[in-house]
Amino acid sequence: MDIILSWIQASWKGTQSRLLLEHFGEKMKYCEMWWILRWLQTTDNPIGSYLKNLTESWQLVKDEIISGLWWVFMETVADDEMILWDGMLRQIWQTIQITEKMRDKDRLFKVIHLEIPDEEVIKRIQSRLLCKQCQRSFSILQEPTLKVWWKCPNCWWELYIRPDDADINAVRNRIQNFYKGTTPSLEWLAQQWILIRIDWMQDENKIFNQILSLISK
Ligand SMILES: [Zn+2]
Repeated sequence: MDIILSWIQASWKGTQSRLLLEHFGEKMKYCEMWWILRWLQTTDNPIGSYLKNLTESWQLVKDEIISGLWWVFMETVADDEMILWDGMLRQIWQTIQITEKMRDKDRLFKVIHLEIPDEEVIKRIQSRLLCKQCQRSFSILQEPTLKVWWKCPNCWWELYIRPDDADINAVRNRIQNFYKGTTPSLEWLAQQWILIRIDWMQDENKIFNQILSLISK
């Protein structure tokens, strides 16, 4: 069973992915689009500089590009491996394309959407710190001491708050845009019986056990 973990952009990303990867080990292949894009940006060619420009001007990478990279990733996966995709399905056409491609390849999969109230998303986004060097994100809510040192626990570079994370109107706009694209996607996935909605406000271990029991059915 393959898994697409879908969630609105917020700071506590990665917990469920990490737990799943620890549980399944080498049987599970992980696609984290953010790291693939980061890596591509470091290459000295037109694709690298195109992606770098987008990131530096805080623009989203086009969904067509994400889908393209997803196809490439899928080519690397063996029949007996599980896929974990950590990323949202932002557009209905993208969701349909990915679903069809997975079916073409005879892959069984579920989309697990982590549901969370808007106010909680705002709280999480506004407590997020990013590293200037390695680009990892951290949460003051989870690690309050970061606010004292402002240093990345991963590489010791300086941490900062993204300007559009600090701006409440920008954050609200982002949330609205997210639902504009994903609501039709999620409805369509629900009609296909491949959507699982999980309350993201629960304890992380409880969520993890729910995911495990749902995918082993
Ligand atoms: Zn860092």
